[in-house]
Amino acid sequence: MSRLFQHLPSVDSILTALTQDSGMAKLPRPLLRDLVNEFLDIKREEIRAGAVSSPEELAFERLLPVVQASVRVKARPHFRRIVNATGVVIHTNMGRSLLAPEAVNAVHDACSRYSNLEFDLTSGERGSRYSHVEKLLCSITGAEAALVVNNNAAAVMLMLDTLAKGREVIVSRGQLVEIGGSFRIPDVMAKSGAVLREVGTTNRTHLSDYEQAIGDKTAALMRVHTSNFRVVGFTGEVDLTDMRKLADRFGLPVIDDLGSGTLFPLAIAGMPPEPTVQEVVRQGADVVSFSGDKALGGPQAGIIVGREEWISRIKVNPMTRALRIDKMTLAALEATLRLYLDMDSVCRKVPTLRMITAGYRQLRSRATNLRKAILTAVGDWVNVSVRRGISRVGGGAFPECDLETALVAVVPKGFSVSEFRHRLLEADTPVVGRVEEDAFCLDLRTLASDEFRLVVAAMTQACSRLAS
Ligand SMILES: *Cc1c(COP(=O)(O)O)cnc(C)c1O
Repeated sequence: MSRLFQHLPSVDSILTALTQDSGMAKLPRPLLRDLVNEFLDIKREEIRAGAVSSPEELAFERLLPVVQASVRVKARPHFRRIVNATGVVIHTNMGRSLLAPEAVNAVHDACSRYSNLEFDLTSGERGSRYSHVEKLLCSITGAEAALVVNNNAAAVMLMLDTLAKGREVIVSRGQLVEIGGSFRIPDVMAKSGAVLREVGTTNRTHLSDYEQAIGDKTAALMRVHTSNFRVVGFTGEVDLTDMRKLADRFGLPVIDDLGSGTLFPLAIAGMPPEPTVQEVVRQGADVVSFSGDKALGGPQAGIIVGREEWISRIKVNPMTRALRIDKMTLAALEATLRLYLDMDSVCRKVPTLRMITAGYRQLRSRATNLRKAILTAVGDWVNVSVRRGISRVGGGAFPECDLETALVAVVPKGFSVSEFRHRLLEADTPVVGRVEEDAFCLDLRTLASDEFRLVVAAMTQACSRLAS
């Protein structure tokens, strides 16, 4: 056995061979050395365990391709691109919204060059980072003032901390939502120092429920978008306009956590009616918050719009500084918001809106092309068909809305769908789809045509590994 150890190639000989490969030569040398050592350690372990029987198995030429493959996989960055073929447009686990090219370019400029982030070019003095988007947000939503922070969870926290610390906020029991990622309205409320005053029932809440709960300690009335669930049947919630009238009688503000929040009236594209931020502002919500990376289609951010008197208080809350957004986000947000200045083209230009509104016929014709490409590459290994299916908006927006879509259904021959799915996750660019009726399905709604080659590459990798 000790004789076998001597046949293992040296670290340096492997390193020299690896760096002949231009891709690997770019990797940090110490990283390569660590990975090669790791590989050799495993080989030594195999020798000790008696899993290697002859010196030939340790020959340099035999080991090199194996080391190459192992190093290539282990040297990949941890945070990587994937192909989202799930059909869930705003997929929180996959980065939610994709940015429009305009926003991507703005991010590039903002982080590779100096900027007027907090520098007023008129006075030549210090400026405000919020100034870059405040006017835009006001002109798009009709609000008096606006502010942006890290995300909508932060925005909700800030609104409550500023307007209601130590006092009561009245919320309908039908809106005490948990949106996942441990964001639950009662918990957020508790953390902000506001006291939750629940009213009504799970399925029905009346204006009189709010009215009876108003007292000395009341700071605000609050609405929370029931993002990811629906109460159906015998239900009722109070209209914002009625809530506004009630709040006025007692001099209270109305806070509205819209969750996803849309600036574009998606109903005209055939989606279920959903109040836009503009409508909510017009109906009299005092402070409204929503996400930047859900249906808006921008970067992760929490946007707060509303009445000047409240927004100005939020701006000077010390927590705002701790939750502020960075320059890259700001650049992406301004560029995305500018696309909303032309409502005729915004649906084409913002990828999230484009994917949500994509029509079946177009998806179907792209599915046919993908099917052909897959058949050409791995037709011996799989059966491929085009099916009708349903995709989801995701991100807690339009939870019950079925979007008709086209799926490419792939059924491997001679091995399981779950094995296939697993192998696709191990590809250089992992492909994530969904398993439906014993087939691996790729939803064309979230799959771009320029990603077909990545799907084909992943499937080729998956099938050749299964073949070996
Ligand atoms: C998504 C959502 C949030 C949290 O927004 P993030 O931007 O993810 O922090 C808060 N409230 C509601 C109702 C939501 O749907």
